[in-house]
Amino acid sequence: MKEFEVMLAGNPNVGKSTVFNALTGLKQHTGNWTGKTVEGCEGSYLSKESRFNITDLPGTYSLSAFSEEEKVTQKALNKKQYDCTVIVADAGALERNLSLALEVLSIQKRAVLCLNLYDEALKKGFRIDENKLGEELGVPVVKCCAYKKHGINDLISVVSDVCESKSETNRYYHCFDALNDRGIFISKTAREIFTSCVSKTNSGKKSQRDLRIDSVLTSKATGIPIMILLCAILFWITAVGANFPSEWLSRLFEFIKSELVDLFSMLSVPQFVKGILIDGVYTTLSWVVAVMLPPMAIFFPLFALMEDSGYLPRIAFNLDRCFSKCGAHGKQSLCMMMGIGCNACGVTGCRIIESKKERLIALLTNNFMPCNGRLPILIALIMMYFAGNPFGILSSVKVTAILTLILIFCVVLTLLISKILSKALSGETCSGFALELPPYRKPQIIKTIVRSFLDKTLRVLIRAVAVAAPAGAIIWLCANIYIGDVSVLKHLTDFFDPLGRFLGLDGVIIMAFILGFPANETVIPIMLMAYCSKGVMTGFTDYDSLYSILTQNGWTLTTAVCMIIMTVAHFPCSTTCLTIKKETGSIKWTLLSMAVPTAAGIVLCGAVSHIMN
Ligand code: GDP
Repeated sequence: MKEFEVMLAGNPNVGKSTVFNALTGLKQHTGNWTGKTVEGCEGSYLSKESRFNITDLPGTYSLSAFSEEEKVTQKALNKKQYDCTVIVADAGALERNLSLALEVLSIQKRAVLCLNLYDEALKKGFRIDENKLGEELGVPVVKCCAYKKHGINDLISVVSDVCESKSETNRYYHCFDALNDRGIFISKTAREIFTSCVSKTNSGKKSQRDLRIDSVLTSKATGIPIMILLCAILFWITAVGANFPSEWLSRLFEFIKSELVDLFSMLSVPQFVKGILIDGVYTTLSWVVAVMLPPMAIFFPLFALMEDSGYLPRIAFNLDRCFSKCGAHGKQSLCMMMGIGCNACGVTGCRIIESKKERLIALLTNNFMPCNGRLPILIALIMMYFAGNPFGILSSVKVTAILTLILIFCVVLTLLISKILSKALSGETCSGFALELPPYRKPQIIKTIVRSFLDKTLRVLIRAVAVAAPAGAIIWLCANIYIGDVSVLKHLTDFFDPLGRFLGLDGVIIMAFILGFPANETVIPIMLMAYCSKGVMTGFTDYDSLYSILTQNGWTLTTAVCMIIMTVAHFPCSTTCLTIKKETGSIKWTLLSMAVPTAAGIVLCGAVSHIMN
């Protein structure tokens, strides 16, 4: 079987990943904002008895770009001649997209121009003469509406023809050699080609609509309040919606536990094995699933819908001024938002920031955004100590308001620490900020919900469960192995107790954060197991029983406040640390990324506990 190598290049947010998914049948993440794909993604498809290996390159505006993810594309296209390069362009913004197309054509002989988002271009009133465009460029042109899979079969057949024929039809190959002249000539040529091939039939109702929406969502007066309101709605649906399934799951797990205990007794399973499996592994696992799964299953799809609608870059736009005042980059807010889902993703997303110093600032502060492993801890603490279960209207509003305040606190903390780091770190700031505000798009509701559940919720849950099972066993062992009269766990918690008390916490909480390093989801179950007598986590069925366990162990309002601060401000989980090491290639920066939030947490907890006591 013949094999061909095909590259997929284009400006950001032109639907490259959607084209890639339509070609390969894979499920690469899609989203309506610039900078979402920061790494090349590979897949393949079969056609006409040949295999086409296809790489989706990160989106870029030009091949002389500066940011890390754009360099990936630049390097790949300069490396060698591919059998075919598919240039995916936004048919509704063709003039700008043609500039990159010409750059690609000047270094890649064989190419195809895929005019994606053709449906939107038609609504904007554009009419494109694709035959003329093909003649002008010397490459085949295919119209596509990738998310409806329209035009994908044509694209497959054209790509296969280009790969098979090995012809060098591209008129612009080696046309723009002198790097310095490229910019001027290229944009002039792009304009000429655009004018000769594209006509506009109406005034474009759609962009007028977008302008009207933007005048509200990004205005100085209403932009930030609406952003906070939308955030609050997101949290409200998450907290209220998660509460019911959480309860049902807890009851179900309790029931299964009692059945398991009976079964083990019937089979005369030794006490030790019973302890480690049921009290250690099972109880920790059931906590993680019952408490983590429902908020994640609600939050991730809602967030994905927001992402697909095109609202995310508007948040970056609204926050840009605050960030630049702190010597950080406006795009940092996009990385922060990705961090709410998962800090490791947020850290990888920092590649969209061009200047090294600003990227480091974004990397070092990303952990202040509570990921989905920490969001449920915050919700649990708020319910127990400040608002009660959000079944009633009043308590649900309280939970939402406090959660939103915590998020605002996280953003303020990020800005503050960014400012300190910007003063402390050497290097250039401000790499310029050209953020494209994409058109608002109606999200593909069902597809987005299903995909975000399968890709994100399940992935994060599986990781948490994989960590929680051994963590449960280890904690149980620590609680049941004695040195002298005292368990190993007690030795450990006693050791950390003075530090804990100083920070308004206790030794158990400090130990739970340390042992929760592989996954923050395990912090509360570890804590509970340490508190409960003989290392057995007594049945957790609701927040009331959890509250009484904590109160019996000396928890006060101060402990809850300090725990919230520590949850937000402590070292990142192991996956995030590994990602930071990979992104920076430096142990020093990785250690600093652990030290910065931890130091902030220690200072804040120390201050708060002394003020409150
Ligand atoms: P990438 O950043 O270039 O990889 O773009 P994505 O594949 O993530 O797509 C960006 C956005 O455009 C997503 O919201 C897609 O659902 C949407 N999209 C992709 N192709 C089309 C299309 O042909 N028509 C319309 N209307 N939307 C599309």
